[in-house]
Amino acid sequence: MTSINSKLGFRKKSLWVYHFNSGGCNGCDIEFVASLTPRFDLERYGVQLVPSPRHADVLVVTGPVTKNSEGALKTIYDQIPEPKIVIAFGTCACSGGVFNNCYNILGGADKVVPVDIKVPGCPPKPEALVELLKKLTLGD
Ligand code: SF4
Repeated sequence: MTSINSKLGFRKKSLWVYHFNSGGCNGCDIEFVASLTPRFDLERYGVQLVPSPRHADVLVVTGPVTKNSEGALKTIYDQIPEPKIVIAFGTCACSGGVFNNCYNILGGADKVVPVDIKVPGCPPKPEALVELLKKLTLGD
């Protein structure tokens, strides 16, 4: 976490997040969206979900990377300005998960883009993302 915080070290604004499903079952997406609902209230830390990667500080990837989504993921990553953090949210995004070795699956997000943080789970709980982004935002 220390090296991640030093990557964002100069940043004095809240984190804006872009989310991309590279081929998952939507289980991780449901938990990701839940983190933004009033129950978990990720926005209390200033975290915003943004519609364009050009406005984002953080890319959250869910699902394994399919051969069809590889190009889109690379393009999205390239469009996010530096410094940027990539979070693989869910076991599929971490390693390909249950879809690994399927004919159309490349594997986890790190097969295509540099991943800074992996959050395993099938799916992970919203609390995991809230706690992670809170630490990144507050720098502790
Ligand atoms: S980790 Fe589980 S819930 Fe998430 S996309 Fe893969 S199979 Fe679905």
